[in-house]
Amino acid sequence: MDFKLNDFHRNTPDQELLDDLKSVATKLGRNNITSREYDEIGKYTSSTISTRFGKWNIALQLAGLELTLIQNISDKELLENIETIWIKLGKQPTSRDMKQPLSKYSIDTYVRRFNSWRKALQAFIEYINTDTPIQELEENISEPINEIVFKHKTKRNPSERLKVQVLIRDGNKCRLCGITLIGDNIHFDHILPWSKGGETTLENLQILCAPHNMAKGDL
Ligand SMILES: [Zn+2]
Repeated sequence: MDFKLNDFHRNTPDQELLDDLKSVATKLGRNNITSREYDEIGKYTSSTISTRFGKWNIALQLAGLELTLIQNISDKELLENIETIWIKLGKQPTSRDMKQPLSKYSIDTYVRRFNSWRKALQAFIEYINTDTPIQELEENISEPINEIVFKHKTKRNPSERLKVQVLIRDGNKCRLCGITLIGDNIHFDHILPWSKGGETTLENLQILCAPHNMAKGDL
């Protein structure tokens, strides 16, 4: 007697399984998916698919998707993913935020790479504070001609990275009233206004709440 669990979807045609793989990838807006991701939103289970095709990666290949190779993700990609999420949330992501659709990579991927989520965040802080992107230093060439033109060394709009640096330094609080801000309520303000020659630098930027940002604009 052979004790074996019946595959519940054993009558589902191969093509249907592959089509569902593809539709999950489309939903995620990507060209590859992990078995874990598939288990969260797929119609079948990753083990049904792996069993049918022998291996998860063979199924991906047959579906015309890219192979899932976690080890190919660079540290930089992992840290950039944290940067994107930090901006979206307007605050430091927790390990529980690290899942689809907010995060491209799972918390497990971070723990495998950095040993713990805390260490991943430490690596992120180091990364965000050391590397000044070239675009910050480019000269602004789109100044209006009729106004007094300040020769700015920086661009008017802070890069995502600079925004994160300001958020970290100011602890997500309005510098004038101390209220905690997230998402769309965060306003990045030039302390010395851009129109008066203020630069887009960490020193010259601060976080303000909407009322304080408006009050400043009215001055
Ligand atoms: Zn305020």
